[in-house]
Amino acid sequence: MTSPAPVVLVFLDTAFPEGRTADASKPQLLVTDQGATRGDGIFETMLATGGTVRKIQAHLDRLAGSAEALDLEIPSGEAWRRAIAAALGGHRSQHPPADASGEELVVKLVVTRGVEGASSPTAWVQVSAAGTLARHQRETGLDVILLDRGYDSDVAERAPWLLLGAKTLSYAVNMAALRHARKQGADDVIFISSDGRVLEGPTSTVLLAHVETSDDGTAVKRLITPQLDSGILPGTSQGALFTAAKAAGWELGYGPLEPQDLLDADAVWLISSVRLLAPVNHIDGKAIGTPSLQKELTAELNGLFSGIQ
Ligand code: PLP
Repeated sequence: MTSPAPVVLVFLDTAFPEGRTADASKPQLLVTDQGATRGDGIFETMLATGGTVRKIQAHLDRLAGSAEALDLEIPSGEAWRRAIAAALGGHRSQHPPADASGEELVVKLVVTRGVEGASSPTAWVQVSAAGTLARHQRETGLDVILLDRGYDSDVAERAPWLLLGAKTLSYAVNMAALRHARKQGADDVIFISSDGRVLEGPTSTVLLAHVETSDDGTAVKRLITPQLDSGILPGTSQGALFTAAKAAGWELGYGPLEPQDLLDADAVWLISSVRLLAPVNHIDGKAIGTPSLQKELTAELNGLFSGIQ
């Protein structure tokens, strides 16, 4: 077993406007914190490259949206930005990187409903080095299995208390799906709704591409993702990549998608903030797209995505 990367921890605390640095190797939460007892809280996971958090405003906006869905009052965007800066600064001074420009750090924002009986949330930022698995999967791609999510694709609107579009701390189901995939020899999962629609990965958004040749011989490239209102988390990576791809001349589409659409695609990816764009090589054992076209499209989209800050 490799030991986990050291974590730098900064709590958001009204008595400390720049954030309160704490020792992540020591106990810091009360056992009655509702994040621990009920998974009642929300989070964001972001990537910092070269010391800068990518898509920070999109993550803060999604955190605010999740907070609204849970009726949770959370610190302001400015307070988060100050705590993030303190945590990144702390990491840089405690663990100076050999190559600052190539350094990838995971920046996690967490807010819980706080201690039982208290009226204020518990909120913190933690920073650690990104693991090697994400980088490896980006480079080699993934074997994925399709798993039943157990909900239909209309449930988010019908039953908002299920909090399907919010990034809550209750990720035990998502982690169980990943363990299930690994026991089957796969790397990851694409969830399917009970009415047969493609949803998302347990920690990622699904993308697929089609390339067609138009009548005048030019290539028309289409980038497609499942409908955002089908009970999935709106991905900040998908949103940013769609904006960049549109500016580069790609056509965009938003589901509904069925499993056959994945099998018929020229390329499929799972995209998320830390792993970035990971090509899907096989779904339920079936090869996806053509390797050369997949490679070419992955390189083009990676080029577009790397320009986003
Ligand atoms: N869908 C789920 C369920 C996720 O947990 C995540 C990220 O963790 C995503 C999609 C991708 O979101 P983002 O691109 O903002 O990281």
